[in-house]
Amino acid sequence: MEKQHSFWEREEWLKPPDLMIIGGGIVGASTAIFYKKRFPKHDVILVDKGIAPEGASTRNAGFACIGSVSEHLADLAVSGGETVFSRIVRRWNGLQLLRETCGDEVMDYQNTGGYEIFTDEKIYETCAGKIPWFNQKLKERLGLEDVYSEREYEGYPAIFNRVEGAINSGKLMRFLHERFTESGVRTWWNSRVERVEPGSVMFENGFQINPKKTVIAVNGFVQRLVNLPVKPARGFVFVTKPIPGLKWKGTFHFDEGYVYFRNIGERLLLGGGRNVAKEEETTDQFGTNQKIKEYLTRFANVTLNLPEKWEIDVEWSGIMGMTDNKEPVLQEVKPGLWAAAGLSGMGIAIGMQLAKELVSKLED
Ligand SMILES: Cc1cc2nc3c(=O)[nH]c(=O)nc-3n(C[C@H](O)[C@H](O)[C@H](O)COP(=O)(O)OP(=O)(O)OC[C@H]3O[C@@H](n4cnc5c(N)ncnc54)[C@H](O)[C@@H]3O)c2cc1C
Repeated sequence: MEKQHSFWEREEWLKPPDLMIIGGGIVGASTAIFYKKRFPKHDVILVDKGIAPEGASTRNAGFACIGSVSEHLADLAVSGGETVFSRIVRRWNGLQLLRETCGDEVMDYQNTGGYEIFTDEKIYETCAGKIPWFNQKLKERLGLEDVYSEREYEGYPAIFNRVEGAINSGKLMRFLHERFTESGVRTWWNSRVERVEPGSVMFENGFQINPKKTVIAVNGFVQRLVNLPVKPARGFVFVTKPIPGLKWKGTFHFDEGYVYFRNIGERLLLGGGRNVAKEEETTDQFGTNQKIKEYLTRFANVTLNLPEKWEIDVEWSGIMGMTDNKEPVLQEVKPGLWAAAGLSGMGIAIGMQLAKELVSKLED
């Protein structure tokens, strides 16, 4: 016989909330925080399909970055100057908001600076030649002087970005969840949403609830719920066991940002390589692509010249949401049903600000 909900469940636990947020990543969690600030008396429930957030926010590389020169040049070819520089501004402002809201200590923020290294002299010369132009533009847009400069790192020509940094993504996400829980937002874990309509959210176990408003913050999984121009993209990362005397200290980019690495103490975190198998990685299924793992392993051995016998300690994948021009989507899909997705691999920088913008558009 079908299980009935009790009077108490119906009246207190399962009554329709003012807002239901689907997805507990940086966007969903920040939406909960800003929404509760704006409407402290409203009832808010955040739901996630995992026992913990399991999209990209707890599975990323922890770069607090505004982008490397080769990445910007590749983007300029697709989107043009106004879009690219507005995005850099958005990333910078987003990082400032994140740091102000959380505090640097909470997420172990370190202003390491970031190096882009080059193995191809010609590409390096093209990129280095653009440094004065980028610096001028960033001075005009952000008031920051000499952001990029020419350097060398471990024998490679490099471009240093002095405003980049790194965070501990696990700490950041725990903090955000603690913050919104303190403000009275409830979380339902292990609750996969199957279907959403205005005023109605249906879960895979058949349960249905009727929130007044709904926010879909599931990024790379969004196509499963609503039709938006956001494609899933799987990213791969590994962290090595400690490597005594590790020479790569700080944050690093290579090949238009497709490969990234940083140290975590004496360990190396290395990830990316999606461009080696872009089509196969257009998926929202977790998993390891051996071609990418081998590519990154070779990169660690040959380019980074890691000492022999280094070993992978942990490896994982995460799902991003990409748009064609890398601009995120923030949209009222149907009345009272909002979606924020397509953070295009930049969610640490732009996730919280996107959530703030979204909350400013929600009505009482
Ligand atoms: C490997 C990797 C490395 C990255 N490195 C960086 C980096 O260094 N710097 C940076 O700025 N960005 C990085 N990113 C991107 C960044 O992590 C994302 O842009 C950001 O986390 C997206 O946040 P979000 O809240 O939109 O989505 P997510 O964090 O993906 O959260 C979505 C949540 O929705 C839940 N969900 C999905 N479908 C459903 C459903 N049907 N029902 C209920 N819940 C559901 C998921 O479980 C998940 O918890 C990286 C991403 C990856 C994958």
